[in-house]
Amino acid sequence: MNREVERQEVESVCTYCGVGCDITGVVENNRIVKVYAQKDGVVSQGKLCIKGKYGFDFVEAADRVRIPRVRRSFLERNPELAERYAERLKPLDETWMETDLETATDIAAAKLAQIRERYGPKSFCAIGGARTSCESAYAFQKFCRETMGSPHVDNCARVCHSPSLKGMRATIGEGAATNPYNDIYETEFIIVIGSNTIEAHPIVANRIVDVARTQNNLAVIDVRRTKLSKLAKHDCIIPFEANLMVLNMMARVIIEEELYDEEFIAKRTKNFEEYKEKILNDPYADPAFFKQVEGYEYLAKMIPNIAREYALKRSMIFWGLGITEHIDGSYAVMALTHLALLTGNIGKSGAGLMPLRGQNNVQGACDMGCLPYYAPDYRPPREVGLMTPQLIDAMQRGEIKALLNMGEDLAHIHPNLNKIDRALEQLDFLMVQELFMTEIAQRADIVVGVKSAYEKTGVYVNAMRRLHLSQPLVQSDLPDDWEVLTLMAKKLGDGANFDFASSEDVWNEVRREAPERFSGAAYYRLERHRKRGMQWPIYHEDTPILHLLDFRTEDGLGRFVYRQWQKRGMVEEILEGRFYRDSLEGYYLTTGRTLAHYNNAAQTKRSQRLKSRYDEDILLANSEDEERFGERVILRSEHGESEALKVAYSDAIRPRTLFCTFHHAKSRINTLFGDESDELILTARFKSVKVEVIPVGEA
Ligand code: SF4
Repeated sequence: MNREVERQEVESVCTYCGVGCDITGVVENNRIVKVYAQKDGVVSQGKLCIKGKYGFDFVEAADRVRIPRVRRSFLERNPELAERYAERLKPLDETWMETDLETATDIAAAKLAQIRERYGPKSFCAIGGARTSCESAYAFQKFCRETMGSPHVDNCARVCHSPSLKGMRATIGEGAATNPYNDIYETEFIIVIGSNTIEAHPIVANRIVDVARTQNNLAVIDVRRTKLSKLAKHDCIIPFEANLMVLNMMARVIIEEELYDEEFIAKRTKNFEEYKEKILNDPYADPAFFKQVEGYEYLAKMIPNIAREYALKRSMIFWGLGITEHIDGSYAVMALTHLALLTGNIGKSGAGLMPLRGQNNVQGACDMGCLPYYAPDYRPPREVGLMTPQLIDAMQRGEIKALLNMGEDLAHIHPNLNKIDRALEQLDFLMVQELFMTEIAQRADIVVGVKSAYEKTGVYVNAMRRLHLSQPLVQSDLPDDWEVLTLMAKKLGDGANFDFASSEDVWNEVRREAPERFSGAAYYRLERHRKRGMQWPIYHEDTPILHLLDFRTEDGLGRFVYRQWQKRGMVEEILEGRFYRDSLEGYYLTTGRTLAHYNNAAQTKRSQRLKSRYDEDILLANSEDEERFGERVILRSEHGESEALKVAYSDAIRPRTLFCTFHHAKSRINTLFGDESDELILTARFKSVKVEVIPVGEA
């Protein structure tokens, strides 16, 4: 018998976080046996985190959705379709019938045509994730807008960095990181705010750790002490929901102490005088305000110290969802850009603004126009659609009848899960394109299994605007997301618009439709520069640093958009003497990720090596609560209740505050969050909710 092993090494890109590490997959007989980073990898610098290194087993997991399935109760509700396709449907179990891709898309197209005819095009919406390629994201919004004629398309940026896009576009005209990660080695001072970088963006954190160790030039601002805080010169713990106040205070110090760059402000910005007047007259922008906030008095000195160092040095700011997932998230992002505009810390090497974006292609999904208010290339769409929370409300009202969901676990990683469940029940049709039977897939009428990132060709845009043309590590018979959409478009009579035979065909259309960023990004060029990567906008050359000469606003000038911090939440309670009380009610909970898992853990929990590290969500509480909490607690808010959570105790978290991850659906953490969201862009307030703690045994 010939037992020769066919072995090859394929360069591609990690499927997890927005850092977008270059990987090399070692493949034997069409099986990935190892993933590693090459020493000269521009992003990875020869290192991967444990997700990148070990999180590839999901590709061949036994429970991948390989055969499309149709819910039996859907067929009962649609007897005509059931009869028409009866011979092509086979029983799988009590809930599902199995079928082939042709039949699944035939049924889906027939149902969508019926809904469109009966209720109009706007009764359809499409909500996508950002794990798939730009080609699929592009086809997704095109299917929604053009084939179905509905403006309602959105993506998972709604629950993460939409406020970064909003805040940066309002002030500097472009919602993306300004510089390459390696500028960390060129900078003199770094602020990390609202980001647990070591766990959520580990390979970027490697660089920050390197320079913080040798140069002692790091400020970490957060509501709890993260792993990175241990290396910080300024370990700045702030109250919940105080980001905007702290950032305005920094700006005020820079103005009052005349540390700003007068020439830069005069040449490159407008409305500074108006902004200055507002900030100087705002009592909440005075760092001395913290002298009266019990437990946080040290901030009255620490904030000015950080502001001074930031202003006087060549500085960079990194932020994560600790900034964006708040009621004032977009305004806090504007406040961050003000710091850069005041000091000229933008438009040059070693400075800049760096939103640490979540999913590996969330930048790309937004660039492709998977947002209700932007067409590809951030052009205005013909009609502005609804954002995800508005779509959920419209489902509840019975106005949205059909949802196409592409790789976004709406029933797990979004807030107010009990409400989402009720809304999904109102739908006439829910179709899901997925790798696994995730929470949303379990609620679907049709589920079509699709290729994972390690099985396809496609472009991914990482958190520093770097395009990576991913190539398949292994071959798969499953369709790519764009192929499913193309099939359905053809069946809905829109074939001429979806004349795609390969992902390169789709990408060439993207380059025509999004020329401002991608016209020069032909596949052959991306292939040629696979190692180095290319950062958009890409014409003849690519653009490692944005805003060198002007901002990407209409007149090229940066703007100050002042917003006063609104007194609320924890600070208000401390001032009124209501916070430090001896009660199990009124704890502040924030959520986030752990190193071993990614979002709903659909992929990571199928890796034994990752699962064994963190196979349930763990609640972090202050040591002083250990005696009364015990080993497990249930959390309750006005919106719902978690399952019993294991508690770990640490002084890294302040008294009367809690932290929990949300990776495991069974914890039901996101039932605790309601509709409170960013006031401009509706990103959920995942970083702050008040909960009651119920020690198990008393539940
Ligand atoms: Fe993958 Fe992000 Fe880890 Fe890099 S840092 S290996 S992109 S998960």
